[in-house]
Amino acid sequence: MSLRFACPGTPLSTPKPGGTLEGLTYIKTLGLEAMELEWVQRVPMNPEHMIKIGATAKELDLALTVHAPYYINLNSPEHEKLAASKKRILDALWMAQIAGVVSVCVHAAFNLGQDAQTVLDNVRRAVDDILKQKAKLFPDVNLGLETMGKQTQFGTLEDVLKVSKEFEIYPVVDPAHLHARTNGKINSAKEWHEMFDLYAAYLGKKSLQKMHLHFSGIAYGPKGEKHHLPLRESDARWEEFVGVLKERKIGGICVCESPLMEKDTQLMKETYEAL
Ligand SMILES: [Zn+2]
Repeated sequence: MSLRFACPGTPLSTPKPGGTLEGLTYIKTLGLEAMELEWVQRVPMNPEHMIKIGATAKELDLALTVHAPYYINLNSPEHEKLAASKKRILDALWMAQIAGVVSVCVHAAFNLGQDAQTVLDNVRRAVDDILKQKAKLFPDVNLGLETMGKQTQFGTLEDVLKVSKEFEIYPVVDPAHLHARTNGKINSAKEWHEMFDLYAAYLGKKSLQKMHLHFSGIAYGPKGEKHHLPLRESDARWEEFVGVLKERKIGGICVCESPLMEKDTQLMKETYEAL
């Protein structure tokens, strides 16, 4: 599988009034090949609309991923919050299935001061529960736990790989988050090679052919991520990262989560193609 660069939602410059369907059509004219549907506030529970999104994407040969709502904590000690978190993920996976989406990105949990093993076990239990519905609700969609940018969040590369291996899913690898989480490390070809090596060690060499990646510039402090930045306004060695993607023939979908959205997605794609 080749690598497609995805715009993080409906492009900013989509002609008015805009919307997901218009955004998909517009993305095609920009030469991009994929979109991540940003369901970060809520999941649109509208099967008819999902069918339209899926048909439009198929017609335009665009690949789709989804970003699930932010309001999720699979480590919540409160039963209601945990149940609501699982439901939001299931709803996202279900609607994603109808729209023909490949993979759904999830911010799995906050640590709440608990030790890493306890959090990991709570996430594992919740993922196990969610996947019991897989055959019925989302047979073709991947549940992608994302590597996260703050130390207070569940989501080191190893932790998401452990859970993914156990349940035969694959994570969303966000090197910018890892860069922020480690206060500036993971920003060189050598470290990205090690990142992909670790990924392959857990999930197999072939897994590098079908990844769900995020990338952007990022602002960070001692506690990790502050916010995303445009590629050229950040310390991210993004051209070097694109070079590693090319060199290793990484396949799948890479969402460029820069605030400039389509501009930086195009920049990554053009840089990749020029190599
Ligand atoms: Zn995310």
